[in-house]
Amino acid sequence: MAHMKVLHSIHDFRAWRAANPAPIIPFVPTMGALHEGHISLLHQARQLAGPSGRVLASIFVNPTQFGPSEDFSRYPRSLENDCALLDAARCDAVFVPAAEEMYPGIAQLSTQHSALRTSIDPGPLADLLEGAIRPGHFRGVCTVVAKLLLITQPTHLLLGQKDFQQQAILRQMTLDLNFPVTVVTCPTLRESDGLAMSSRNRYLTPDQRPRATAIYQALQWAKSAYDSGEKHPAPLAAGMQQRIAAAGLTVQYALPVHARFLTPFTTTITGPAALLVAAQLGATRLIDNLLLSA
Ligand code: AMP
Repeated sequence: MAHMKVLHSIHDFRAWRAANPAPIIPFVPTMGALHEGHISLLHQARQLAGPSGRVLASIFVNPTQFGPSEDFSRYPRSLENDCALLDAARCDAVFVPAAEEMYPGIAQLSTQHSALRTSIDPGPLADLLEGAIRPGHFRGVCTVVAKLLLITQPTHLLLGQKDFQQQAILRQMTLDLNFPVTVVTCPTLRESDGLAMSSRNRYLTPDQRPRATAIYQALQWAKSAYDSGEKHPAPLAAGMQQRIAAAGLTVQYALPVHARFLTPFTTTITGPAALLVAAQLGATRLIDNLLLSA
């Protein structure tokens, strides 16, 4: 490791943070298994920080955001490689806490969600879409990000547009709870065939991998239909669903929503909008989205 500090405890992280004051401190929280999408956030963080700033990242597979039947135990973990990638992206320090320090007593508990005592209520934005399919997910996300913000005390929080609902909810959380941090949403990095980069893509079998591109193709189809004048949500949703299902994926949702309130449009699409998709391909759940220009 050339320069980057790897800090495993809250105490060590706070000591490093106190010894390294800087005017701009961008922070990129991750669950590790890093790919170029994550690294693009680090590049944006480095640019934001300038020469006198400090760039922070965290790696923590947060147990409280996984449901009981989700992929927590098989979620990919590759700490050594992740640290090499962060170091190469000129990250200054990475916080890699132990689950036991973030959630004391968690090892003795039967369900991950029950490790939460005091927690953040993510509010109405979390009732829809991902929140409806993954109960408790955003409570876990908001709580861990709130904890990470209080530990790392950054000036900027960098989030990927890839997780559209997550960035909307976390942005709202920082506003509602007056976190002294600026949220920056960064564009989605894609593979050359359009599939959004994700740590979960490595679950896809060689047969499934080419079929996964149906999601981006459906999004692009709907965006160009919208750009050519189709402003009604129903045909856009139906067209996306049909295209994704035709590739053998099970669609959980595929629809245009308000970009800030995340509410589905019932009549004509007006104001800022995004197309959101979630689909299951074998054992792998994939999400993606595109913004619609107002
Ligand atoms: P994760 O490790 O999945 O929790 O992701 C950490 C951060 O990276 C989140 O803010 C994600 O939205 C972001 N991210 C994940 N995939 C991509 C991607 N393909 N392009 C840009 N950002 C991404």
